[in-house]
Formats: sequence, C-alpha cells, structure tokens
Amino acid sequence: MRLIDLHCDTVSKLANPWSRGTLAANPYSVDLVRLAAADSLLQCFSTFFHTGCIPGPVRVTAAFRMADRRIDVFEKNLRQCAGKMIAVQKFSDIERCEKQGCFGALLTMEDGVPIGHSLENLRHFYKRGIRLVTLTWNYENAIGYPNSKDARVMSRGLKPFGFAAVEEMNRLGIAVDVSHLSDGGFWDVATTSKKPFIASHSNARAVTNHPRNLTDEMIRAIAEHGGVIGLNFCPKFLGRDNRSRISDMLRHIRHIYRVGGEDVLAIGSDFDGITGDLQIRGTQDMHLLAEALRRHHMPERVLEKMWSQNALRVLREILN
Ligand SMILES: [Zn+2]
Repeated sequence: MRLIDLHCDTVSKLANPWSRGTLAANPYSVDLVRLAAADSLLQCFSTFFHTGCIPGPVRVTAAFRMADRRIDVFEKNLRQCAGKMIAVQKFSDIERCEKQGCFGALLTMEDGVPIGHSLENLRHFYKRGIRLVTLTWNYENAIGYPNSKDARVMSRGLKPFGFAAVEEMNRLGIAVDVSHLSDGGFWDVATTSKKPFIASHSNARAVTNHPRNLTDEMIRAIAEHGGVIGLNFCPKFLGRDNRSRISDMLRHIRHIYRVGGEDVLAIGSDFDGITGDLQIRGTQDMHLLAEALRRHHMPERVLEKMWSQNALRVLREILN
C-alpha cells in the first residue's frame, strides 16, 4: 500500500545552516530510507520560513528571495537522490513513480507571503515547480488572515487579491490549501474555488478545540467539493498534552470519517515541523498507524483511500 503525505517541513529544516544530512539520508523524520520503509508514492515538501520578523516594507521581496533559495535547496537535494526521488509537476510524473517504483516529491509553499500582491510572482513559483499553496501561515498576508483565537480575526475573509490568487491557482493547476487559514477565509475559498481544495495538515475541531482544526461544517464542505483533509500529527492539534498518540489520531480519523465520509481522508503528517513526544517518529513508522486502523476494523478499501487514493483523485483533477 503506497503512501501520499501532503505536508512535511524537511526541506525547510535541511535549508538551515546548522542542519545535518540531505533528503537521501538525515537524522530527521523524512528521507529516502524512511520513505522506502513506508512504500511512499508521493511526499509533499513545504518551503516554509518565518516571515513575522521581517519588517513590513521589505517583507515580500525578502520572502520572495528566501522562497527561491528554499526551492534551490530542494532541487540540490533531489539531485543527491540520484533518480530515486523525482519532482512531481504533472500528474503523469506520479504515474511514472507508480510504474518505476521511485518516490515523487511535490513542492509546496506554506504561507503566500512571497507572492505579495502579484499574480506574476505566483506564476514565477508555478514555473519553479510549486504545485500547492497553503494560503496563510499564522500571520496576515496579502491573501487573507490566519486562524486565530481572536474571533474578529477568525471571521475575516479573503482579501481582494486572495480571490484573484485562488482563481489563478485554479487556472494554473496549483492546489489551494486552507490549513492555517481563518474561518472567514475558508468559506471564501469554498465559494470561490472551481477545483477541489484541501486542508493539507489539519484535524477535527469537535475532537480537539483548536483554531487550526476544522469544524464539522468545514469537513463537510471539503468533502462536498471533492477535496481531502490530511491528518496532522502535531500534539497540540491531536489532543491532550505534548504527546502525539496513535489513539488520538484514531479519534480524529473516526470523527472526520463519520462527518465527511471515506473519500475525504488523507495524511498530512507535518513531520519535521512538529515537536513533542511522537509515537510515529517519522515516515518509517507509518505502518504503526495502519496496523492500529486495521485493528479498529477500518476496511482495507478505506485504508487505501486514506493512504493514497483520495489524494491521487484530487491531484488528478488539479495538476495539468
Ligand atoms: Zn503548517
């Protein structure tokens, strides 16, 4: 059973000067050895960095340069994988991975700050291989507002440029990702996007009341639009304390399944972007979650949908 993981921060981690290793082998949570152990088909790699400390007037230009550098790091790492991992930019690239048994790597942008107010910038990053954009991180940007405990921020929708950006992503073939977005922004995406949209790494708010998680109405809306929700392994979004437990993952999966149905389930581990005591320490441990789901009587058909088939369906519709 091959695996698609919609979100990890390994490339961002490897871009730090003090980091060790490459995508071929590193001491973190995702590399070729671990991907092989999990029979990975496709791993999404985010190009994330904090922009909160960059002063406003130069934020976009600085973020644009940093995003380009992250993409350079990704390309350099892929070269070091010597054909075992290939960049996925078209759906046929995934089919090639299926046939040849190599791993696909899909580049994503977490936080649209580098796009600024410019569709030209968006097209630049499309040309460089970005195929999924998480519209915001935890700060406001030109697209919209982040998730927040402040009800006023949470209710704010997309900005005018945000609507234009979503339309252009639909046209280009970039997946629109609502993880981290405000509730108001979520509903604007739901009414604007002509293609299925996704929450690449979010859980259920009815199980763990955190603004990063999705309400039942949102879970249903993503399902109705044909999108998917990648289960996030971050302890804060799963439940009780600093431990990321399989038992808590099962509670979220059960709830999302009950509310949104079997076609909405997916994985968005957030590996190398999360800290705490992780029961699933890296991609190599994904079999532990699969075994737990089988023990709890998840039908094999649904497990396969959650592992890759649902995400594949969405990517087939989005990627040109
Ligand atoms: Zn994130």
